[in-house]
Amino acid sequence: MQFRDLQKQYQVLKEDMDKAILDAVASGAYIMGKQVKELESQLAEYVGVKHCLTCANGTDALTLALKAWGVGPGDAVFVPDFTFFSSAEVVPLEGATPVFVDVCEDTFNLDAEDLERAVNEVLAEGRLKPRVVVAVDLFGLPADYPAIRKVADKYGLLILEDGAQGFGGSIDGKRACSFGDISTTSFFPAKPVGCYGDGGAVFTDNDDWAALIESYRVHGKGAFKYDNVRIGMNSRLDTVQAAVLQVKLKAFADYELEAVNAAAARYTELLQGVATPVIPEGFRSSWAQYTIRLRDKEQRDALQASLKEQGIPSMVYYPKPMHLQTAFAQLSFRAEPKAESRNLCPVATSLCDRVLSLPMHPYITEEDIETVCNAVLTALK
Ligand SMILES: *Cc1c(COP(=O)(O)O)cnc(C)c1O
Repeated sequence: MQFRDLQKQYQVLKEDMDKAILDAVASGAYIMGKQVKELESQLAEYVGVKHCLTCANGTDALTLALKAWGVGPGDAVFVPDFTFFSSAEVVPLEGATPVFVDVCEDTFNLDAEDLERAVNEVLAEGRLKPRVVVAVDLFGLPADYPAIRKVADKYGLLILEDGAQGFGGSIDGKRACSFGDISTTSFFPAKPVGCYGDGGAVFTDNDDWAALIESYRVHGKGAFKYDNVRIGMNSRLDTVQAAVLQVKLKAFADYELEAVNAAAARYTELLQGVATPVIPEGFRSSWAQYTIRLRDKEQRDALQASLKEQGIPSMVYYPKPMHLQTAFAQLSFRAEPKAESRNLCPVATSLCDRVLSLPMHPYITEEDIETVCNAVLTALK
């Protein structure tokens, strides 16, 4: 059994995929070929925003957003404590300071109440200016944007939606990657829509920011290609990857998103008595992960070991909260010198000990789901 079966997906898509890749290779336009522009239109239309700009990966997508907003030294950027490293890594890269915010036990996503507390702590300390909140759509579920938007508006924060895992999710029919002032996604192979290498995209309705991002992604180009007007990056999506993504996006929109939601519903139905993922009313997940919560680390580790013995893969996303990452020891915001001794972000810290992600992808069979659930229920007895 595979945790996420990308080979099976390739076998299903093979005919269209091989043609798309060979066409891209034969075209000779390996950088910024016509597939890149086509894909950007298709993505913008799917998400429901005005501009989509593809780039080299999801981390660069976040960086491009921060550059467009001129985020830098003296700026506070609020980031959930329970996420992949990239969501916060990009902040000190621009010279700004990450401020870690706790998450909700049931959705794993940013806690808007704790965001307000953290903003007030930064304001009270008086050294940093609250600028941006990075709201992550963890495991495929959109963050609580209605609540986050209220806090953001109250304190003048920009929302950067990190939709690296969230592409395809929605709230009341409005799609993920449209909730931020700028939103981003990743096409890393294992994400809900992945390519055969690295890739990413930035989404916004704002014309000025879109123009800046277009410049930053190609060496800070100006109107004339060889007059560079700012210091930028080399962060484009390859034509071959765009061709791959055109095939993948079609399958995702046609049936894969439905298939993962059916698989998740079946897991939840079978896993009676287990703390299964909570999807709030009106929300829809794209199931980048199907993550259960256990009682404590001991129970979680024992369950994972038992599954492994039976050849069932599972993963711990994530074993360590952001505020305990070595790299942030000197770089993140601490309200007081003694803050180390205080229990920062208790929910995120506890989740790191208790979560376990089970095999999940659009091509998982009913039989595999039953095998996993029986193994989980037996181990927990
Ligand atoms: C994967 C991921 C990223 C980074 O995407 P890359 O394409 O790997 O750079 C950022 N944020 C989150 C939440 C992710 O899961």
